[in-house]
Amino acid sequence: DVQLSHRVQQIKPSPTLAVTNKAAELRAAGQDIIGLGAGEPDFDTPEHIKAAAIAAINEGKTKYTAVDGTPGLKKAIIDKFKRDNDLSYEPNQILVSSGGKQSFFNLALALLNPGDEVVIPAPYWVSYPDMVLVAEGVPVIIETTQEQRFKITAEQLEAAITDKTKLVVLNSPSNPTGVAYSKQELAELAEVLKKHPQIFVATDDMYEHIVWGSEPFCNILNACPKLYDRTFVLNGVSKAYSMTGWRIGYAAGPQKVIGAMKKIQSQSTSNPASISQAAAEAALNGSQECVAEMVTEFKKRHDYLVAALNGINGVSCIEGNGTFYVFPSFQEAIESTEGVSTDVELAELLLSTVGVALVPGSAFGAPGHMRLSFATSMDVLEAAVARIKKALG
Ligand code: PLP
Repeated sequence: DVQLSHRVQQIKPSPTLAVTNKAAELRAAGQDIIGLGAGEPDFDTPEHIKAAAIAAINEGKTKYTAVDGTPGLKKAIIDKFKRDNDLSYEPNQILVSSGGKQSFFNLALALLNPGDEVVIPAPYWVSYPDMVLVAEGVPVIIETTQEQRFKITAEQLEAAITDKTKLVVLNSPSNPTGVAYSKQELAELAEVLKKHPQIFVATDDMYEHIVWGSEPFCNILNACPKLYDRTFVLNGVSKAYSMTGWRIGYAAGPQKVIGAMKKIQSQSTSNPASISQAAAEAALNGSQECVAEMVTEFKKRHDYLVAALNGINGVSCIEGNGTFYVFPSFQEAIESTEGVSTDVELAELLLSTVGVALVPGSAFGAPGHMRLSFATSMDVLEAAVARIKKALG
């Protein structure tokens, strides 16, 4: 019998991908399934981006590139940070990877020693704790409630920090809650971090462009420029430009760690796909009109879905500030549904009785909730709501 590594035995497959796969399986078996599990925009990649990729192929840009990204893409990323975030970086502070997922994975492997603690606010993106575990770090989860809009307070952060804390992870707007921190809230968290100069910060800005609400996008570095030497800004083109399949993410931060991340990437995947890099360069340098169109549509669906969910008995949903997810509490519905006592069981019931696939909140460290993706048409959302209503009586 094969003895697998302790590393792989500690982790589980991504639960969000599992739901999507399960829904696809049932659909293939002829069942009428509505999937609200998707973690990707339902729009096509914009034409000018596809055209840049096709041109790259025709021009023979089909060979190895520099491990950390082509000079053209790195320049586009540096320009983007200046333009959108008022942040300045040198080329050796930037690493382009095969998706935002690899950016965080590189960071965990480059930064963590066994036993190092990583503070992760819940609900969290499903991959953070598992990637920390692969790197033999220890995830330290801070729980939040719907009442606090799923955002950690300065007091909670302070209480979670120990002398083993190496990294704090922030994701705003958040997958799965759609909620964003305000500049003021980030400044308060930064005050805590200022007292602990040994701690690094990762701000995962993947949903930066998919925002609405009163405040423009802001990350912790904007709120506290003093954290520059120990903050990693993680971002990518997957969500903003509907490019999830192209696999391009990027990281910016202190040169020494970025260099170490590059070394890890050089011994694992090397450069991200050359053609995808050409496409990402076009996405960042080109017109941003395509993003605005997508956001307008997401906002419409968000408003519909929040209101509709609040109209279902036992469900309560707060408004988000962006992304294409909502994260309602189904706690009362769980308590009042016979034969069900957890969010996982309720998700299974919704899938088997009315054919609606949602991701249970426990996958994100927040039992009692469900993540619904609205990266699907209004018609599908309306049908899903009607079915959930029916299932919950
Ligand atoms: N960060 C967050 C918060 C995400 O939701 C995702 C994708 O689901 C990623 C990073 C990774 O994106 P990708 O690896 O597809 O670029």
